Amino acid sequence: MTTTNERHVAERFSVESDRSYSMLIDGAWVQSSSGETFACVDPYDNASWGRVPAATVEDVDRAVRAARRAFDEGGWPQTLPSQRAALLRRFADLLTENADELARGQIHENGKLIGEMTWGALQMGQHAHYVAGLAETIQGRTIESNWPNTAAFTFREPIGVVAMITPWNSPLMLLSWKLFAALAAGNTVVIKPSEATPTSTLRMAELAMEAGFPPGVINVVTGFGQPTGSALVDHRGVDKIAFTGSTSAGRAINKQAAERFARVTLELGGKSPNIIFSDADIDNAVHGAMAGIFGATGQTCMGGSRVLVQDSIYDDFVDRMARATQALTLGDPLDPTVDMGPVSNRAQFQKVIDYVDLGQSEGAEVVAGGARCMTTSELSKGLFFEPTVFANVSNESRLAQEEIFGPVASIIRFRDEDEAVKIANASDFGLAAGVWTNDVSRAHRMIRRVRSGTVWVNTYRLTNYSVPFGGFKQSGIGRELGPDALDAYTEVKSAWIDLGNQQAFGRH
Ligand code: NAD
Repeated sequence: MTTTNERHVAERFSVESDRSYSMLIDGAWVQSSSGETFACVDPYDNASWGRVPAATVEDVDRAVRAARRAFDEGGWPQTLPSQRAALLRRFADLLTENADELARGQIHENGKLIGEMTWGALQMGQHAHYVAGLAETIQGRTIESNWPNTAAFTFREPIGVVAMITPWNSPLMLLSWKLFAALAAGNTVVIKPSEATPTSTLRMAELAMEAGFPPGVINVVTGFGQPTGSALVDHRGVDKIAFTGSTSAGRAINKQAAERFARVTLELGGKSPNIIFSDADIDNAVHGAMAGIFGATGQTCMGGSRVLVQDSIYDDFVDRMARATQALTLGDPLDPTVDMGPVSNRAQFQKVIDYVDLGQSEGAEVVAGGARCMTTSELSKGLFFEPTVFANVSNESRLAQEEIFGPVASIIRFRDEDEAVKIANASDFGLAAGVWTNDVSRAHRMIRRVRSGTVWVNTYRLTNYSVPFGGFKQSGIGRELGPDALDAYTEVKSAWIDLGNQQAFGRH
């Protein structure tokens, strides 16, 4: 395994080490009512930089009230679609102009690679333009009902105040999947970014203010799941919760929301199968299996963490994947030649270590990696873990069933197509799947037989704002992105008009 040189350290995103950040409530930049703050830590070198307010329950209440006022009295839902589209377009241009800073800011928080974060930051501007277009297509229907002498029609109206709770792995992109659609539909929002990545969201909110969104339409409170996130979910002024994060937090949020039937969109975890048939192009498949699990250091909801390989090519595939994994370069995520960066935070790092121990105790065999990476002073400073491949994994083991969210692949053997489908679907999750085959009929059959929100054939981890994304089973509720993205942020209202001045009483 090779390492990068120190050159990139000097080029790191420059931040003042003691910078103090503020939250955004009702158009004003404020501190926590308790005065408490927490530190931001760079996973590359474990250095602490900057402090962010820890929002109290009172701060959350202030933010929700501001969003409520902007919705109920401020006239935001009544703005013309073209006005909201114009603001989104201005926001889009600012996001694009500042894409480099936004990418680097996130890397400073979560250690993801510069190539991926720059692509993601540039996507946001295009995405906002796409959603601005959708804003001007919001429409209801006129319906020929079965009551004589009536007119029936529907509207799509904004839901109200939307709480957005986001994770650390792609903080801005995952926020943008919610934010643009919610704003386009006329909702107001309160955002709670992950405690590990709050400052990039604050910078994005600053750009939204610069674009001209009115005070109270976008609010940001920073803090931990408890008490900040939980207070937001519990607040009676919140009409909908749009959450991306772990299945366990999603379950808790769904229960809380159910108390008052608040609407939810939940984008949760995964344990996605990447299925390699013997008729596939094996070089491509090895590359795809590695990109699927080591991209983003495995810290991606759609990570192809279960690699299902057909019997007849199993040994050869394991051997090739192990060798290719050992050749990966770890180092500074700002270095474009690096293959894999650090694990994003200490809790996640420990989780990876624990699962690698568990996998070994369950009888799986480590064929690559398996340990903390301490080969140089650069790597031993940060949260670097070797990309790890387990072979001879049983699909029933915890290693194959639980989300690790790190650079750990489990290779599982299958006999034929039926068994591949059975293993792929034997999971509580259903977020995504990959299929590698040169048989077009098999590709189509597999797309329909695998129970997941996305299936990729001969590729992996492609997403675009124009294509819906979301999970089956415990991977979530609802869909984000695509031409129907605004549906998740609108309620359908039906209207009836009696055209004959008839007495409606007694019709039933
Ligand atoms: P997490 O669930 O620990 O935290 C996510 C967010 O929820 C954070 O802002 C956190 O502060 C907040 N939170 C935690 N508990 C809460 C509670 N009880 N009430 C309110 N808020 C609470 O997840 P994470 O570690 O930040 O992110 C990793 C997880 O996110 C993985 O499971 C991954 O699969 C999932 N994820 C899913 C998608 C998707 O689109 N399906 C995308 C990215 C990440």
